[in-house]
Amino acid sequence: MADRTYARRYTELDQTLGLVVGDERCLVIDTGSDEAFGAEFAAAVREITDLPWTVVITHAHFDHFFGTAAFLPCPVWAHTRCRDVLVESAEQIRGAWAERYRREGEDDLALLLEAAQLVLPTEVFTHRTELDLGGRAAVLLHPGPAHTDHDVAVHVRDTNVLFAGDLVEQGAPPSIGSDAHPATWPDALDLLLQLGPDTIVPGHGDPVDAEFVSRQRDELRELS
Ligand SMILES: [Zn+2]
Repeated sequence: MADRTYARRYTELDQTLGLVVGDERCLVIDTGSDEAFGAEFAAAVREITDLPWTVVITHAHFDHFFGTAAFLPCPVWAHTRCRDVLVESAEQIRGAWAERYRREGEDDLALLLEAAQLVLPTEVFTHRTELDLGGRAAVLLHPGPAHTDHDVAVHVRDTNVLFAGDLVEQGAPPSIGSDAHPATWPDALDLLLQLGPDTIVPGHGDPVDAEFVSRQRDELRELS
């Protein structure tokens, strides 16, 4: 999308994973829904760079973290509440989705999900932190309760690309589950828009511009 800043698109769940490459290390943004998925993504990253990687998990929904084992050993960043939610309910999340896959006749995906190792974040933060990738920084920030109470967005300042996780969705309306905070979600998007990003990478769908995110914010505001 921009200088050493990549998004990889998947048919499964219309998912979008990210990669930012510095001079000394690279940052992998989300790891997919199982270890086979994660291994495929890891191989794709290795086609671009041999640098050591750091992983950041945008939030504790199964399709964003169950591929992490494919990247070990490495630091794994997340919001502190993300770690709590994984400790408390990752197995419940896994069970519910495996069951759903089976109902939909996707037995292979159910088996892969059941086999995936749960990897807990090794590094956590609450509001904002900056990762030095060597010659460039990636800012991890939590803009407040929105899609979950622990969403993390990644801002690459020098290319002005923002990886938004599921705070933004393209191709489908934002996913408002029982763990979402629709009343404050528009405020979180306002905070992200204040960064003035040129390109916003959603957790699902194609990259979008700030105007798209403004419209999605307005739609969410009408709901709440
Ligand atoms: Zn999500």
